[in-house]
Amino acid sequence: MPLHGSSRFRSETTNSTPHRRKIHVEAFNQLWCVLRLDRKYGAGASPNGRQSAEVPRPPGGPDPIANWYAPPAKIGDNLYFLGERAHHAFALVSKDREIIVFEALFDYAAGPEILDGLRAVGLNPKKVKYVLISHEHGDHDGGAYLLQQSIPGVTIVYGAAAWPSVLARTSPHATRSGPENDGTDGRVITVGDVSVQIVTMPGHTPGTISFLFEYKDNDGNPVKVAYVGGTAINFNGNAAYYNTYLASARKFAAAGAAYGANVLMSNHTEFDNGYFRAQTAEAIARTCPIRTSSVNAR
Ligand SMILES: [Zn+2]
Repeated sequence: MPLHGSSRFRSETTNSTPHRRKIHVEAFNQLWCVLRLDRKYGAGASPNGRQSAEVPRPPGGPDPIANWYAPPAKIGDNLYFLGERAHHAFALVSKDREIIVFEALFDYAAGPEILDGLRAVGLNPKKVKYVLISHEHGDHDGGAYLLQQSIPGVTIVYGAAAWPSVLARTSPHATRSGPENDGTDGRVITVGDVSVQIVTMPGHTPGTISFLFEYKDNDGNPVKVAYVGGTAINFNGNAAYYNTYLASARKFAAAGAAYGANVLMSNHTEFDNGYFRAQTAEAIARTCPIRTSSVNAR
């Protein structure tokens, strides 16, 4: 009943101070967690865009695989989760089984999660046409070199503003051969019947890019995604840095709305529970094989 519903809603909102405090604490913890990850594993990005020369890796080598490995998961008819527990990677697949990969993860994770993950779900890594990197930090691009070396003809795409710091690294890194490697604002990358629109979003790093794309769910229905490529601020930034970050956030919000996005995704699982959601989608699809479309067809 509307009246009951509205009074219940009012009582929950007016008496929700502890709940609000919990949300704020959780949000702060999530931000801090990602900030620490970026400081520990990132490329040392600062508001003025300075970057370390090395491809960043966890100090002392990677964590044991048991601490980060996540199995691949089928999210929809043509979207697969290939990430680890803290960072996302995805594969968007065309009707011809050609592939756009989002993110490259840490260098040590790209093989087990992306290359082996594609094989595990029955896809051929050699059919990856593009790898789209959200930004120039090692937890998202450390594996770009391995992917470029392993997949003949693949095009690695960074935000155009990310390439100078990537190419300045002295350790193995992906290389740029031409404008096809540049993620420029509004560029649409198409492979067969799937495509991804790039929205430049300087803020988290100078070269951060975000993505708008559509996939089909397990019933074949279209799902429109707004994928945010950089969600954490540098607490030592100046006013110009924060203004840039805010302008980019507003720009992407408007772009997502204009696109008609109905799903918001992030490249860190802390922000959207993506690891758990992907595993849940896989489990549901495995245990509930009757789809609504097949029911409707009867
Ligand atoms: Zn980062």
